[in-house]
Amino acid sequence: MQRIGLFGGSFNPIHNGHLHLAKAAKEAGTGQGRADPGKCLAVQTGVRRHASGADRLAMCRLAAETLSFCEVDSCELERSGVSYTVDTVRLFRERYPEAELVLLVGSDMFLSFTRWHCWQEILEMAALGVVSRMTGDLEQLRRQQAFLLQYGKIFLCDVPVYTVSSTKIRENRKNHTDFSCYLPQKVVQYIVSHNLYD
Ligand code: ATP
Repeated sequence: MQRIGLFGGSFNPIHNGHLHLAKAAKEAGTGQGRADPGKCLAVQTGVRRHASGADRLAMCRLAAETLSFCEVDSCELERSGVSYTVDTVRLFRERYPEAELVLLVGSDMFLSFTRWHCWQEILEMAALGVVSRMTGDLEQLRRQQAFLLQYGKIFLCDVPVYTVSSTKIRENRKNHTDFSCYLPQKVVQYIVSHNLYD
């Protein structure tokens, strides 16, 4: 069965931590089989702070060039009004009725998952592929996994933590501190040439 990773975020900007999440889901053993999406789609939320949707989309496309199995979908940017993850998952459920969908999330999103709009419906339509963002939180993640397993399928990817966030990159850029090691080179060039986040 085809497995598709769905990967949402504000990507403001997209960085190596996001790519790490996609790669980890593809490559890591999870103790429950592999999340292993054959194809991975990055979708974006329509936030407008810091950088426009068009700029964030352009940066996502540049970053996706570095991962052969990853494509960018702009459905959330095109949707007007509030955009919920459940709407995106419904859309992909309809588009790929035969595929197994795996929603890829970092541990921050995973731990707050039961506060998401229609989270139970999300778990009926898609599995979760989870990567830790903080060393030492594995026990907490396992507890959340044990709870959510009664509602759906949860893959915890056993990979090292890669600590970076878009917030840190924006802060470094503002403070004139180097941030180039956290992003694909073409994204760094895009940020500099478009005077983003300065
Ligand atoms: P911000 O600092 O602006 O809040 P962010 O770096 O957390 O942004 P988002 O675009 O909000 O990035 O995150 C999109 C998804 O990627 C979320 O599921 C988030 O948990 C995950 N993610 C972000 N950074 C990492 C990372 N370093 N490792 C694993 N997952 C990550």
